[in-house]
Amino acid sequence: MEIRQDLRGMKKEEIVNLMEEIKEPSFRGEQVFQWIQGRGVSKWEQMHNLPQGLKEKLATRTFIPPLKPDREWEGQDGTRKFLFELFDGEKIESVLLKHPDHYTLCISTQVGCRFNCLFCATGKMGLKRNLMAGEITGQVLEVVFREKIKPRNVVFMGMGEPLDNLEAVLKTIYLLGDQQGQNIGQRRITISTCGLIPEINRLAALELQCVLAISLNAPADDLRSKLMPINRTYPLEELLRACQNYFTTSGRRISFEYALIKGINDTPDHAHHLAALLGKFPAHINLLPANPIQHAGFEGAGEETLKRFLSILEASGLPVTVRRSRGQDIQAACGQLNPLEGED
Ligand code: SF4
Repeated sequence: MEIRQDLRGMKKEEIVNLMEEIKEPSFRGEQVFQWIQGRGVSKWEQMHNLPQGLKEKLATRTFIPPLKPDREWEGQDGTRKFLFELFDGEKIESVLLKHPDHYTLCISTQVGCRFNCLFCATGKMGLKRNLMAGEITGQVLEVVFREKIKPRNVVFMGMGEPLDNLEAVLKTIYLLGDQQGQNIGQRRITISTCGLIPEINRLAALELQCVLAISLNAPADDLRSKLMPINRTYPLEELLRACQNYFTTSGRRISFEYALIKGINDTPDHAHHLAALLGKFPAHINLLPANPIQHAGFEGAGEETLKRFLSILEASGLPVTVRRSRGQDIQAACGQLNPLEGED
């Protein structure tokens, strides 16, 4: 059986090359790209300046992976969560965060995730499959054209570990950055990771300009390995070395995410230890209380604990921001995405 290519996941030059292969003029490649990436079109019949013969040839060799809107929710703070059904019946979620003067769109890269971090609902699903680049890009296009908004930032912080699906994520970054597409530059894109060192080094070698966000959550290996099993493979010292490497090539400060879990990683000792660990590292720390998830058996830290932790980090001179939880009431906050739990 011939496998059809993911047309929404193809760069402009790849579509132009395809035109050559199927003996069509190369300008048609640009037209196809503009329909898909520039105008968010996903049906052949909507591409009305393309000849019927070309559409038929494309339909035999390629497909535009569907993202069927299934459900959506709106939280009290204006956060919107979208559930999409994929061609094989799998489901993914994307989250649109509304700020006073801009939007941030959080997208998924995998159906589920294999890293099983203690505090994460997606990890409870296990990994079902990687998303294709056209399914990752498609989330942005769906939300942009349906909601008629332009997100200022796109963050790979939805379901899945982006660096575990690196080829598709890189494709998406290049597709989103195309001026005939959405023109979302790398500096407006954040890649979040649990800390896959070889892939971080690969990003560094590519000299990307994206923000790298490390989900840190503990200042020492023993605790981090309990919260995030990946730490047993890639411990903190090596992780920080890879982060330094990324900073050196990109010039961009690394963002460290630290979710405070009541009684687990939120004591003054942890804060001092974290300050010592990051020291003069070119870092920015985002502190947030861990969000509740089903069957997790933990709670997020309270306000007083958060303030105490924050003041210790600030006193040490580290740049730190408290990230307020968004969309918690619709299970759209960090660590809460899991379409299986949303089913009723
Ligand atoms: S936090 Fe990220 S890496 Fe960890 S289980 Fe969740 S999706 Fe996977």
